[in-house]
Order: sequence, then C-alpha cells, then structure tokens
Amino acid sequence: MTTLNELADLVRGPVFQRGEDGYDAERSGFQTAFHHSPEVIVGALDAEDVQEAVRWAKANGKAVVVQSTGHGVSVLADDGVLITTKRMDSVRVDRRARTATIGAGAKWAQVVDKSEPLGLVPVSGSAGHVGVVGYTLAGGLGLLGREFGYMADWVRGVDVVTADGRLRHVTAKSDADLFWALRGGRDNFGVVTSLEVELQQVDGVYGGGLYYDFADVDTVLAFFRSWTADLPDTITSSLGSMSYPPLPVFPEPLRGRHIVHVRFATTDKTRGAELVAPWRDIAPVLFDHLGELSYREGGSIYREPDFAHAYDGNSVLLSELPAEALTAIRVLAGPSAPVPVIVDLRHLGGALCRQPSVPNAVSFRQAQYILRLLSPLEGLDLDTVRSTHDKIYQVLEPWTLGRSLNFAYGGRGPTELVDSMYDKATFERLRELKATYDPTNMFRHNHNIRPL
Ligand SMILES: Cc1cc2nc3c(=O)[nH]c(=O)nc-3n(C[C@H](O)[C@H](O)[C@H](O)COP(=O)(O)OP(=O)(O)OC[C@H]3O[C@@H](n4cnc5c(N)ncnc54)[C@H](O)[C@@H]3O)c2cc1C
Repeated sequence: MTTLNELADLVRGPVFQRGEDGYDAERSGFQTAFHHSPEVIVGALDAEDVQEAVRWAKANGKAVVVQSTGHGVSVLADDGVLITTKRMDSVRVDRRARTATIGAGAKWAQVVDKSEPLGLVPVSGSAGHVGVVGYTLAGGLGLLGREFGYMADWVRGVDVVTADGRLRHVTAKSDADLFWALRGGRDNFGVVTSLEVELQQVDGVYGGGLYYDFADVDTVLAFFRSWTADLPDTITSSLGSMSYPPLPVFPEPLRGRHIVHVRFATTDKTRGAELVAPWRDIAPVLFDHLGELSYREGGSIYREPDFAHAYDGNSVLLSELPAEALTAIRVLAGPSAPVPVIVDLRHLGGALCRQPSVPNAVSFRQAQYILRLLSPLEGLDLDTVRSTHDKIYQVLEPWTLGRSLNFAYGGRGPTELVDSMYDKATFERLRELKATYDPTNMFRHNHNIRPL
C-alpha cells in the first residue's frame, strides 16, 4: 500500500488532497451545482500519470472517476481518486489520413480550429466548449448528426488505462470487445487518454436559426412535426424553447421574451436553403440567423451559454413525435411551467439509425427524436425541477425508447438511470464485459454498468 504522499511522488502533475489549497479549483468545471468530492485529485499531465493514479487506486482498493470539462457531471464521487484530464489537451490532425488524434482534455473548438483550415471537421455538437472524449464515448449527437451518424461511429482507436493499470491501444482489430464497449459504455471501462477519430470533408454549412414568439408555438411545433417527417438525411434540425432574460448579450428582439427557436445545419447549401425557405412564412420571424456559416461558427446555431453555471436535465429518445408531445411542450414546459424549462427537441434518424461498419454500444438507433429538458438551478429547488420535467416525460412514456447518457445531468444515483440508457441485449453484453475488464467495479461513480 502506498500513501497519498507517495502518490504525489509518482505522478508529474499536481495532486490535491481534500481540504488542501487548490482542491476546489481542480474539481470545479462547467457545472457549478454538482461536484465530485474524492479523497484525492490527480491533475494528470499524461497517460503515465493516469496509469500511476489507477495503479495507486487498485493497490488501495479505491474507486476512480474522471473529469475533463465538467459539462456532464452526473453521478458524484465522495471517495477515491478523481483524475482530471484538462492538461492533456493536445490535438494532432493528419490531413492525408483525414484523422485527428485528440488528448483526453481537449474541447471540440480546439479540434475544429486545427482541422477546418484543412477542409476537415469532426461530427461535433452544439457547443465548442464541450469535451471531446466524454461527448464521443456516450455517442455524441452532432450538428450534422443525420448526415454522418454519431461521433462514436467515427472512432478508430482508443488509448485507455484499464482497471488493471495497463495502458492499451484499443482498435477493432486489437480488442474487438473492449472497442465495442468503450464506444457507448463511456467511463465504465477505463480512463481514456486519447482518441483517434475520422474527420469529414466539409466546406462550411448552410444553417443557423429562426426565432418565433412563443405565441406561435402551436404553428411552429406542428410545422416541425410535418416538415421533419420527410427530409433528406443531409439536413439536421431541432426546435428549442426558452425565456430570454432582458440582457444586452442577447439579440434585441429576443430580450425578455419566451421564444421558440428552430435550428438547421446541412452541408448541402443549395438544397438546404430551398428546404428551409418555407419556415420564413409560417409565422412572423423575430430574428433571422440563417445563412452560410463556417463550421467553427456552428456554436451560433444553438447560441448556448459558454460560462459555467448550475443546471439539471435529462432526456427521452422517442420512436415518433406524437401530438401529445407537442401539447406537453406547450403546456407543461412553456412560460407557465412552475420552473423555467429549456426545451431541446432534436430530429434524429438518417445516418444516426445505421450501425457503423464496426458496431458499437450506442443504443436506440431507431429513435426519431430526442427531447431534452433542462433547467437552471440558481435559486430553484431540485425536486421541483425534477417533478416538472418528470410530468412531461410521463406523458411521453408510450413513445419512449430510452434515455441518452450524454444528456443526464445533476447528482444521480449510479443505477438510477443506467438501464434506460441501453437496450437489453447491449446492457447484458456490457455487464459481461465489465466483469472481464473491471471485475471489482473500480469505475463505479458513474451511470454504472455493474459486472455480471
Ligand atoms: C452546453 C452543452 C451543450 C452540449 N451539446 C451536446 C451536443 O450537441 N451533443 C451531445 O451529444 N452532447 C452535448 N452535450 C452533452 C455533453 O456531450 C456531455 O455532457 C458530455 O459528457 C460532456 O463531456 P465533457 O468531457 O465535456 O464533460 P465531463 O463532465 O468532464 O465528463 C462527462 C463524462 O464523461 C466521462 N469522461 C470524461 N473524460 C473521460 C475519459 N478521459 N475517459 C473516460 N471517461 C471520460 C466522465 O467520466 C464523465 O462521466 C452538451 C452539454 C452541454 C453542457
């Protein structure tokens, strides 16, 4: 058994014990309402630091949890070792191979900054400040998701430290089972130190958003439902609704209003503009942000906050979009809801429905929509937020296939949601593989796949 002080000698990065200066800063991240409270935090500089931390945890019977940006903090650790990866943020793009090798602490914006000038982009999501590894290992639903599928489908290789302390380079050839499990099973199988991913040849997109007053919500929702029923795979869209505070950071027409926001992205610029055109006539458009965008401008499509804050949220993957969903969004998630609710209804289908050439553990590919509900937590009671969201999810139960691992936020129990995140066969196989790769459940402070 090595002591905590000996652990500090073994790693090159900083080590913080509970109560020490720097501990709170090291565990903090994008989510400000929920934090891990481990015995010790290792600020890893490289894969060897990760190995030392995992070996130390193994020798001392401790749990290991990992954090990059803290966007997805969900199940909280109150013991063991937290490995933070934010210092491991290297990004290397190989133009010829059309791949990127990305360190565990890198964010999507860092990848796009390097890849877009070479005509290549990743299947990244709505915000460039999200971490690459957490996003990808849980599926990764991108701005161009219907065209290219999940980001997990484009992973070629994973460098990961498993519970035995080994650093493995895992590919479809080297270890097919572990490669399958990591892409969907996220943090249950080890600490990923870097990913090699394929990039897409994309020269900008046509996209952006149209904003309507909530008074027109029925028209907008009904049109979204009929319009998305028959679209080419090249166009990915979503609908959001929320109240905009009366602050100058927001475009003037949106300030102080409850808004419905429809967003689009496509690589087919000509057809995209034609397909989106009818949206301008269905109701008065308060703010028009549509046009050709570089991929790095993709964050303007959703216009999400880029500063740390407190929030809670979850999602349901739906087999279809029933009329009941539209009513629930209007009545239960609108301006008269007991707490402010941010709605994000994304159209799925297209390439998201297809297994990649090397299948992975991402579940519920048949889903046609995902409904995410999110609420800010400042000054609000978590129980009221959850019961408001749950009322909406209950209405949608008959059409619910499962939930997305990427969109489950807030302090949750390790087994509270996990069996709704995978279909039955996938979950059973993940549990069998967990018994092989992490039999003592070292990686347990997560949506936990218990060893079978
Ligand atoms: C503003 C915002 C926008 C978003 N947009 C999208 C979107 O468009 N599409 C989408 O799919 N998701 C989206 N998400 C969800 C996001 O992908 C998840 O929250 C994801 O978990 C964030 O990963 P992270 O590394 O940034 O966060 P972290 O909180 O640091 O990590 C999240 C999880 O990933 C695991 N993890 C992180 N690093 C590693 C590692 N090295 N090895 C093993 N496990 C690791 C952690 O254990 C943790 O459980 C968004 C989230 C926010 C807050």
